[in-house]
Amino acid sequence: MDIPFDPQDVSRLLLDWYGREGRDLPWRQTRDPYRIWLSEILLQQTTVAAVVPHYLRLLERFPDVNALAAAEVEAVIEEWAGLGYYRRARNLHAAARIIVEQCNGTFPDTLEGLQALPGVGRSTAGAILSIAFDKPAPILDGNVRRVLCRLFALRQPARCSAAEKKLWSWAGALTPEEQAHDYAQAIMDLGATVCIPSRPRCQECPLSRLCQGFCLGLQEEIPVSGTKKPVPTVGQVAVAISCSGKVLLLRRPLEGMLGGLWEFPTSEMLPEEKPETAASRLLTDMVVQGTPVAAGRVRHAYSHFKLDLYLFRTEVSRPAVVSEGENEWVPVEDLADRALHGAHKKALAHFDVSINIPNTESV
Ligand code: SF4
Repeated sequence: MDIPFDPQDVSRLLLDWYGREGRDLPWRQTRDPYRIWLSEILLQQTTVAAVVPHYLRLLERFPDVNALAAAEVEAVIEEWAGLGYYRRARNLHAAARIIVEQCNGTFPDTLEGLQALPGVGRSTAGAILSIAFDKPAPILDGNVRRVLCRLFALRQPARCSAAEKKLWSWAGALTPEEQAHDYAQAIMDLGATVCIPSRPRCQECPLSRLCQGFCLGLQEEIPVSGTKKPVPTVGQVAVAISCSGKVLLLRRPLEGMLGGLWEFPTSEMLPEEKPETAASRLLTDMVVQGTPVAAGRVRHAYSHFKLDLYLFRTEVSRPAVVSEGENEWVPVEDLADRALHGAHKKALAHFDVSINIPNTESV
């Protein structure tokens, strides 16, 4: 595949720039593959700002792969609460057990070995191999993908299979044999801080002289996005059922979306159903005698749908007995410490007004 510049110029310019401008992040002071792996899994689809506190807390609770493998998966999910994409937490735990049970606690140091771990794809494996083991391996996370699309002025949708093939080939051609550790972080940093999604800072970019997208004035039009399917909106109701200073929480099944996290009793609204009707139906289904009182509304976005969540509260004189799934009547003052999933954390901020829950998080 033709490359319109010398690949070594790219790595040289990037490495020089990284030496001056690279970010000082907590996982940059180590070559420990456990810590690098943890940071890379956390950073998938999540910003650095959101990741840092979770990274530090996870490390404090699970300082090495043995500690992580020995933990219950629920404990990992608890520390993950608020980050979304919870499958990553379950995969992290499953991978730790594989490393301890099948590899004597030693991290794989090959692409194949790393990609065999749950939750580790080709790009994450490349990042761990480069950063922890200093072995040259291409990476193609979201930031790198954007840089390469612009650098090569790719005018195809960046996610189509033809583009994917070209991007991996370019990523491989640009990865230097030496200083793989720094190069991987340099190109990721460039995408995160200079070649940003909108209004890239081309005037500050070390690659501007080589960048085909910039030379053609196309930097704001690239990457080209494919046609997106409209994202559906799902309506749900959630009811805070309280009794003598405690509130009923249910735990979602471990397998499946948001597995292992806690929530207020919830029901999807039927087509054309009014929120109050859905809330009454939910209470009837749970054999709870109470009148739902409106307590607000929150919206939350997931990768494949938007949630429109109507909130209700009701006070009952006796705690209802819930026969299905894990559930608990939680003291109001302890609700904020529970691993609620994102939409219900927002709900908690609304409920605090209605049922005197201490407010710990704003909507
Ligand atoms: S010159 Fe602009 S578009 Fe090209 S890589 Fe740098 S920041 Fe991105």
